[in-house]
Amino acid sequence: MVDYRLVKPVYDETFSSWVNRCLLARLSAKVTGLSVKSEFSREDSEYKFEDPDFDANSDYVKGSIIIVGAYRSYSFRFFEKEQRLVLPWEWRVNYCPECLRADVVAGRLPAWRKSWCYVMSVHCLSHNRQLSSLNGALSVNKAWDAFVYEARSEIFTTENYASAWMSNESERIRISLVRKVVAWYLGSGERNKISNEIDENLRHCFDVVLQMLLAAPTYALKPGAAWSLFFLGKPRFDRPKKGFAWALEEGMFRAGVHVRMSAVILAGMVFSIFSDVEVKFIDRLLKIASGVCRLNSYKIGSECFLLSNREDYLYVRAKFSGVSCSALERICEFVQGVEDSYQKSCEGNKKDRLWGRAKDSWRRWAYDPCNEPDPQSVILGLRYYKI
Ligand SMILES: [Zn+2]
Repeated sequence: MVDYRLVKPVYDETFSSWVNRCLLARLSAKVTGLSVKSEFSREDSEYKFEDPDFDANSDYVKGSIIIVGAYRSYSFRFFEKEQRLVLPWEWRVNYCPECLRADVVAGRLPAWRKSWCYVMSVHCLSHNRQLSSLNGALSVNKAWDAFVYEARSEIFTTENYASAWMSNESERIRISLVRKVVAWYLGSGERNKISNEIDENLRHCFDVVLQMLLAAPTYALKPGAAWSLFFLGKPRFDRPKKGFAWALEEGMFRAGVHVRMSAVILAGMVFSIFSDVEVKFIDRLLKIASGVCRLNSYKIGSECFLLSNREDYLYVRAKFSGVSCSALERICEFVQGVEDSYQKSCEGNKKDRLWGRAKDSWRRWAYDPCNEPDPQSVILGLRYYKI
C-alpha cells in the first residue's frame, strides 16, 4: 500500500533528493534530524562525505528508513546507480536548469537526477543541453538551491568562454559526440562476438584512459589532455603538493563539465569511435581553441600525458594489469604514445631501455611490469599470443 505521506519519486531521481522532498512536503520538524555525515581526512586535509544517494549502508539512508519510512513504499533498488563511474557526493554539483523548471511547472519541488551524478554526465538527456554547475555549500536541498540560483541569475550561464570549443553553437555537436561515446560504452555500440556482451576489458580500459585524460593539474605535474587542451585560463592548482596518484584518482571528480565533456570526446578519439567527418569537426574546433592540429591517439598519449618518473609509470601500468591483449590493441597508438614519452623523459631500468629500442613497445603493457619478457620474444610472437 502506498504511504500517503510519501511524495512520488520523479523518474531518475536520487534517493537523497526524494527523501528531502518527502520531508519538506510534510513540513516536519524532523527535517533537521537527517543530514549527510562527513569525516575530516587528515591525509587529504578535507572532509570526506558518505554517499546518501547510492550507498544503502550510509547513515543517511538508514536514518531515512526510521524518519521517513522510506522503504515502506519504494525499494532502494528504485534509486540504484546505473553507471559505474560515480562522482563523490561533494562533486555532484551539475544540473539541468530546464529539468528543475519543468518540476516546478509540474507543481512539485525540484528533484535532483541520478543521470547528473556520473563522471560522464555532461549533458541533459531530456533537454539536450550541457549541464550547469552549482557553486557554494551543498545540501540535500541542492535541487531547490539550484532552481533559485537560476531564477535569480540574470546571466544564464556563469561560464564565459570565448573559444569556439566552448561556444553554444558547437554545443549540439559536442553533445552528439558524447552521446555516441556513451552509447558505445554502455554496450549498444560494440559487442563481444562470442558472448554478445560489451567487452568488459574494453570498458575497464576506457575507465583508465578517461582517468588519464582527466589527471588533475598540480604545480608539479602537467594535467591530463582534457585540461591542457581545453581549459582556458589558469588551471586550478587545488593541491599543489599532491602527487601523481592523487592527480590521477581525483582529477575526474574535480574537473568541471566542460573539461569532462572534452575528456569523453578525446577518449572517443583514443578508442576510434568517431567517423572521419566527426574527427575533422573535432580537428577544426581544436585548431581554433588551442592551435593543435591533427590530433590523433598517438599524440594524445605522447604529448598530453607526461610521466615524470618510473614510479608514476608503474602506477599507470598497474591500472592496466589483467587487461586483454585485444583490448590493448584497440588503443595501441595511445599506449605507444605514452610509452614513447616515458622513454624520452625518464630514466628507466635496463628492461625499459631494451623495450625502448623495440618496435611496438606498447605490447609490454600486457604484462606485469615486474615479470615482463624481453621484447624480442614478444614481438616475434613467441609469447605474446599465448596470453
Ligand atoms: Zn533537462
